[in-house]
Amino acid sequence: MEIRIDNRRKIAFPRISHYGYAIKYIVEQGLGAEYVLLPPATKKTAELGSKYSPDYACAPFKHSLGSLIEALEAGAEVLVETGGLCRLDYYGALQKEIIRELGYKCEFINLAEYMSGKKKEWLKLARHLSPKLKPARFTTGAYEGVKMAEYMDEIEAVYYQNAAFETEKGSYRKAYRKFLLKMQTAEDWQEIRAGYQEVKQAFDGIGMRKPERPVRIGVVGEYFTIMDEHSNQFLQEKLVRLGASVHRFLNVTNCHFRAKEPTLRPRIKAYADYNMGPTTTWTVNAALDYAKQGFDGIIHVKSFGCTPEMDAIPLLQNISRDYRIPVLYLSYDTQESDTGLDTRLEAFYDMLERKKKVMR
Ligand code: SF4
Repeated sequence: MEIRIDNRRKIAFPRISHYGYAIKYIVEQGLGAEYVLLPPATKKTAELGSKYSPDYACAPFKHSLGSLIEALEAGAEVLVETGGLCRLDYYGALQKEIIRELGYKCEFINLAEYMSGKKKEWLKLARHLSPKLKPARFTTGAYEGVKMAEYMDEIEAVYYQNAAFETEKGSYRKAYRKFLLKMQTAEDWQEIRAGYQEVKQAFDGIGMRKPERPVRIGVVGEYFTIMDEHSNQFLQEKLVRLGASVHRFLNVTNCHFRAKEPTLRPRIKAYADYNMGPTTTWTVNAALDYAKQGFDGIIHVKSFGCTPEMDAIPLLQNISRDYRIPVLYLSYDTQESDTGLDTRLEAFYDMLERKKKVMR
């Protein structure tokens, strides 16, 4: 049996994009527990999740289940699953049962049970996870972790909007990767702040050859799949390589701290008479914004079987018709071929580029 030199609990969350670094920071610096940071997801992660998931579950369920099983194999003692405003709210309960049936021994915290909870419930949970918790340290750690997530969102947006136009190939990628590594290993606020300032300086120093009117593509769609590059097969990176300036409104900062969903509903009233729920509202609002700003195209990302995003499709078709903006619809499950996606993206990009030349 492994002898532990401390009694900190090993906590794991499912992977989602780079947010694991911010969660790691909160768990380690705020809670004083240990975070099980997994290596990047692979094909095996998706296969593992699919193998033990019901067929009808949407892709985020399968990806996150795969992550949780890998975390258990890596020694996690406590698994934490989030809740949400769609089927996601039931997923924690189901995943907990699947993991029990597979014979794993762990504690499973389902955040869906805390979503409507008061601050003191969250504090109780934090104390449960870390009995020696210092509330002031936890508050500071949580604040700094959230700030890190905001920095990562900001830097990621700059990267995807500009990387296609660098004069020296790979300069943006190099600076961006260095920044992510710094966030992964940051242990205090000074390190977070220094990493952020360093990457901004590095980006500012990169030589650019940006056309006056580059091909601009707005990516909209389902919360998890659109943000998690392993789930969407590096969609934004592929578009950058084709030469596009890629924009994505949906990230944690915009959706949870800046533009809360109810405030967006009036903005899409011309296309949706009723409240369609958060993910649909974010999608339609972002698509409408891109159309109004004269973007060249929109890509809609959804997970196979995602009802909220299926509801968004007729609205996107109406926006496409009214603003004469082409929309490419992509639906993801866990077994996709890169070749199929590459071909569709190339054809879409070529069409947008030709249209732009003709309209000049
Ligand atoms: S938004 Fe869609 S894909 Fe995402 S968890 Fe909900 S139902 Fe599944």
